[in-house]
Amino acid sequence: MPAPLEILQRVFGYGGFRGQQARIVDHVIQGGDALVLMPTGGGKSLCFQVPALVREGVAVVISPLIALMRDQVLSLRQLGVRAAYLNSSLDWSEAADIESQMARGELDLVYVAPERLSSPGFLNLLEHAQISLFAIDEAHCVSQWGHDFRPEYLKLSILHERFPQVPRLALTATADMQTRADIQARLNLAEAEVFLDSFDRPNIQYRVRPKQEARRQLLDFIKSRHPEDAGIVYCLSRAKVEETAKWLKAEGFDAWPYHAGLDARTREAHQDRFIKSEGVIVVATIAFGMGIDKPNVRFVAHMDLPKSMEAYYQETGRAGRDGLPADAWMAYGLSDVAAMRGMLESGDASEEIKRLERRKLEALIGYCETPMCRRQVLLNYFDEVLAAPCGNCDNCLEPVETFDGTIMAQKALAAIYRTGQRFGTGHLIDVLRGTHTEKTAKFGHDQIKTFGVGADTPKPEWMSVYRQLVAAGFLTVNHELYGALQLTEAAGPVLKGAQTLRLRRDAAAVFKKSARTSRPAGGAPAALSETDDTLWHKLRACRLELAKAQGVPPYVIFHDTTLLEMVRQKPTGRLGLSKISGVGATKMDRYGEAFLAVIRAS
Ligand code: ADP
Ligand code: ZN
Repeated sequence: MPAPLEILQRVFGYGGFRGQQARIVDHVIQGGDALVLMPTGGGKSLCFQVPALVREGVAVVISPLIALMRDQVLSLRQLGVRAAYLNSSLDWSEAADIESQMARGELDLVYVAPERLSSPGFLNLLEHAQISLFAIDEAHCVSQWGHDFRPEYLKLSILHERFPQVPRLALTATADMQTRADIQARLNLAEAEVFLDSFDRPNIQYRVRPKQEARRQLLDFIKSRHPEDAGIVYCLSRAKVEETAKWLKAEGFDAWPYHAGLDARTREAHQDRFIKSEGVIVVATIAFGMGIDKPNVRFVAHMDLPKSMEAYYQETGRAGRDGLPADAWMAYGLSDVAAMRGMLESGDASEEIKRLERRKLEALIGYCETPMCRRQVLLNYFDEVLAAPCGNCDNCLEPVETFDGTIMAQKALAAIYRTGQRFGTGHLIDVLRGTHTEKTAKFGHDQIKTFGVGADTPKPEWMSVYRQLVAAGFLTVNHELYGALQLTEAAGPVLKGAQTLRLRRDAAAVFKKSARTSRPAGGAPAALSETDDTLWHKLRACRLELAKAQGVPPYVIFHDTTLLEMVRQKPTGRLGLSKISGVGATKMDRYGEAFLAVIRAS
């Protein structure tokens, strides 16, 4: 048997295992079952790919999505590994061909859709083939608890019944206790060793901005930090997806919409563009993302509040899988809180479910409003403790000032009370600031005591106060009354002066130029000198050309991390190049000369 480390170095071109990879690989090679819980980008694939190459026979990898299978198989073939997939995208004869290769022992890995395992023909094939291991990818799909439930996953318990001697690995990036228990119970993995990694994604910088002119804020963000990068922009509605994509395009970006209302061919075309070209932005509803392995997504932006902390973590997790710096950016405002609360309360779920959902929503709002380190709040939600503030979120980088907001809150609440709890923020702020309008005259609101008591505070600050009062539960938004703000019971003590309140002072809406970290404009995910930046772009162009010629995504040729290492080390010979992480034997043979030529010419 070849040694795992030798396989890692020769085939994958990596120097060593990361984190728990070595332990997991050894455990599986020795025939043990494993449950692997690691964040996105943590390096789960190697945990079964290396044992697949060490153990005799073919590894059967169960994967829920065609796009994922295709991507992984393409990447493995680039490494010279004998890999294939079996799913509904193949016609009968193509499938038969792969099955016979499997039977003849000519494949190292075969990726299959879960439904195939309930077909007697396929099970029969498995009985006659030599199987090295079963890997169940995206294992959380077995849980009804999460949002990716796939009934076919429930049938996977058959693997253990029919092939008790074959080691099984279940892998997922979802780690909440409920999902984990479901995986163990439903897949018969109670005895499996659990490998749990930290879920922190230190390379992702989290930022939440108070929403003012969301589109302009988004534009500032993309222009200042990601003018050439690939990214995903999430919006809640299809209409907003379309509008935002059109608008970004008009601003000169290669932006495309993606939502369930588009026909399958258009969706596929846009996704394909995202994967196979560089610097494409996809504007999407949550329908986009699962099954996308693209490692160099440099930013994920939320134009609306996501559904939950779980959804937020999953969606932002699509940024920076390659470990290079990436941004998770969100614009968040009063309307978001109001919309989410409204949706929740008007739904026809049971009171028990609503209570649970309310708790989840409050956690998310708390995350948006916190003046503390966001990563600490996030990880804490997933039962993990980060001892010190992270230094890589907006609150750490530009500490938030909090202030005694009791008097401002009293004024804001009084304006609502004295105008009869029938108006939205626009009118209320006019009253507070003493702005004469048709409406203030019509209702005689220019005569009340509150009129003009907040004239010295600008409008965005009043917006911020109202948002925080809604977020903290002192106010509700009445959707039947056109978004009128109304007092809750909790507001009483504040109005009466029996309770004081601390508020956060929101930073200015415009993305501060000074807030830029080491990332320059221009695409390279690290600070590079001008000559290095030129080389970086040339290496990328070389990669894109090679990828286009084969119709594959550029990142299956080399990852950005590998190109960046080439820029730093500038190897001019094969030996130097082969030492760079990500350059294995097969890629050296295929592409070595092309990249060396670019480096030598620089
Ligand atoms: P996951 O499936 O957990 O999201 P991947 O398996 O896609 O993560 O790995 C994430 C990235 O890390 C990939 O770019 C992969 O090539 C890289 N990677 C994983 N393990 C190692 C390692 N031991 N050395 C170098 N790079 C690694
Ligand atoms: Zn922080």
